[in-house]
Amino acid sequence: MSVERITVIGAGTMGNGIAHVFAQNGFSVTLVDVNAAQLEKAVQTIEKNLERQVTKGALTAEQKQQALANLSAQTDIAAGVKEADLVVEAATENTDLKLTIFKQLDAAAKPGAILASNTSSISITKIAAVTKRPDHVIGMHFMNPVPVMKLVEIINGYATKAEVTETIVALSKQLGKVPCVVNDYPGFIANRILMPMINEAVYSLYEGIAGVEEIDTIMKLGMAHPMGPLQLADFIGLDVCLSILNVLYNGFGNTKYAPCPLLVNMVMAGKLGVKTGEGFYRYTTGSKEMMVSERFKK
Ligand code: NAD
Repeated sequence: MSVERITVIGAGTMGNGIAHVFAQNGFSVTLVDVNAAQLEKAVQTIEKNLERQVTKGALTAEQKQQALANLSAQTDIAAGVKEADLVVEAATENTDLKLTIFKQLDAAAKPGAILASNTSSISITKIAAVTKRPDHVIGMHFMNPVPVMKLVEIINGYATKAEVTETIVALSKQLGKVPCVVNDYPGFIANRILMPMINEAVYSLYEGIAGVEEIDTIMKLGMAHPMGPLQLADFIGLDVCLSILNVLYNGFGNTKYAPCPLLVNMVMAGKLGVKTGEGFYRYTTGSKEMMVSERFKK
């Protein structure tokens, strides 16, 4: 299946990165967001990030200009997707919202167009079931920051056609990424393995076994992880971690995925990590300050 024109739905953190890599690799990209200010900000972010690549010598000034010329922005979903061979949805992680968007995409996209979702945890099979083309719906899970991270986790829904998977695998390689194909079960692979590790780190803190710094240092130096699990949770957002753990817990009905009460409390208290300036570390001063480790010291 030939893919030349891509539409990306949602111009947030992930949407702007996804639009960036497609535009940089010669695809014609339409970026769609219901929020015009967000759309404008995303185009500015892409321009800034492309300029950084030019400064580093990774791109020429001409390649940057060509990437920007490949990109257009749109606030109307139907108008934005009608020419697309592939739509990559990267809107807010909310099941009802994604189901509504996929009904709209199915109605507006041309027959044969592939509809992909960048969801971190919502069932691809469930999303596909609200469309009349479940065999053309697939998960295309990029990692943050998209221009830097090599992995694309590709998720086959129950009905995804082999030809569609092959197209998305080939396309990911064209973007210089490494695709890995998995089946559609809660958390897929990336979050099914990552989130229980983060949850176990929070439990270790909650039970007073060690402080934030000790837990993160052990995992960094002992396991060669670039970042400790608690710092990583702060970067992902504690609300996002909680919601993915709930998907695992509810999806498998297994208490081993039950979110730690400390994580639940921190989310209720609005301590969501980097985005609110405080989680397991405090970020307001620009330096990491141990917050919870003080509270849990014996
Ligand atoms: P975000 O909040 O930064 O951006 C979401 C964007 O979607 C916003 O700009 C919002 O205006 C837009 N939006 C909402 N409703 C819309 C609609 N009806 N039509 C068009 N746009 C709409 O979110 P994000 O972090 O970029 O996450 C997007 C998706 O990517 C989610 O499914 C998330 O699970 C997934 N994801 C996120 C990360 C991450 O690290 N942030 C990593 C992998 C996957």
